[in-house]
Amino acid sequence: MSLIVQKFGGSSVANAERVMNVAKIVTDTYKKGNDVVVVVSAQGDTTDDLIAKAKEITPNATKREMDMLLSSGEQISIALLSMAIQSIGCPAISLLGWQAGFVTNSVYSSARIKTIHTERLLTELGNRKIVVVAGFQGVNEAGDVTTLGRGGSDTSAVALAAALHADRCQIFTDVDGVYTADPRKVPSAQKLKEITYDEMLELATLGAQVLNNRSVEMAKKYNVELEVISSLNPIPGTIVKEVANMEKMLVRGVTKDTDVARISMIGVSDIPGIAFKVFNKLAQKNINVDIILQSVGRNSTKDIAFTVNKDNAPVAITALRELPFVGDELEITCDTDVAKVSVVGAGMETHPGTASKMFEALYNSDINIQMISTSEIKISVLIDAKDADKAVLAVHDAFLG
Ligand code: ASP
Ligand code: MG
Repeated sequence: MSLIVQKFGGSSVANAERVMNVAKIVTDTYKKGNDVVVVVSAQGDTTDDLIAKAKEITPNATKREMDMLLSSGEQISIALLSMAIQSIGCPAISLLGWQAGFVTNSVYSSARIKTIHTERLLTELGNRKIVVVAGFQGVNEAGDVTTLGRGGSDTSAVALAAALHADRCQIFTDVDGVYTADPRKVPSAQKLKEITYDEMLELATLGAQVLNNRSVEMAKKYNVELEVISSLNPIPGTIVKEVANMEKMLVRGVTKDTDVARISMIGVSDIPGIAFKVFNKLAQKNINVDIILQSVGRNSTKDIAFTVNKDNAPVAITALRELPFVGDELEITCDTDVAKVSVVGAGMETHPGTASKMFEALYNSDINIQMISTSEIKISVLIDAKDADKAVLAVHDAFLG
């Protein structure tokens, strides 16, 4: 007998038929003698619909009230799923985040889990109940409802698996695993049997929309092995763990991110402290910077270019304009017609030549590279947005075709 945490995303519980399908998966697991804790998200587009409802009232709703509103989506799902399980003849109980013991900090709309008081959960499991927990939510020390940020149910599931020392944590979704590229765009994309936490983290951050990246961070921290599987297609999924079978794979995935903007500051003084002041200013505004490029100084000036999330670009530019040394003569430009294409793979740490192979593939497709950044397990290039799909195909073909 094992303790298994199963998480189902919004599309897996989108309607009555899907809820019954989930109840079947859960009760099959339970009937094999396992203890089962289920974490669910809000049905289908419920969270987006609730956000739209708030906007009908005011564009400036406080985050506390937004959390009060959005947490209601998961409340619907847990009640319906519990009923569905009971209708199949198995005992089930639904619990909201606070009832399941989720204590978070008070940062409404992106709260962090501080602890999970597991007593209630353990009592219900001890009574052989299937426990259905609302994902994405908790309660702060003042007793107010909080949410963990969009896609937060993955994190709820991983946190529960860690707190309960579960034997397995299964993330059910509408895709059947993690692929080497988006299978809708790249016909030769392959499903991965295994992937490391670090690789998954890079892929999640780079826009592969399978797992929320905070959930992967947490899984790595507490060494919770994750299984990403389909709720609609009963075939083996992808295992996310510390050391994955390399299968002689140099590169585990190719992604693109079109949500980027490149900001360039042309002709800043070539003196110490400029980079510090620029990036410190952006940090103060909570803006994450990705690829950074600084040119070699000439005629006592240099250029600094960097990428940010597209949404952050206007705030970033306004913030930079506030810097005392940014006068009229300094040009700040912003290009949003760019895309970041990346290859990810733990294998490249020990294999030279990955970068040149990637650049060769781009060259053969006549794609110009604007910026480059590398880490031990990732190489990213910034290119024209119009070339993004072509680049992913070419690079995928070079490494995984
Ligand atoms: N329902 C929330 C959202 O749509 C949480 C989740 O789905 O994980 O973001
Ligand atoms: Mg959702």
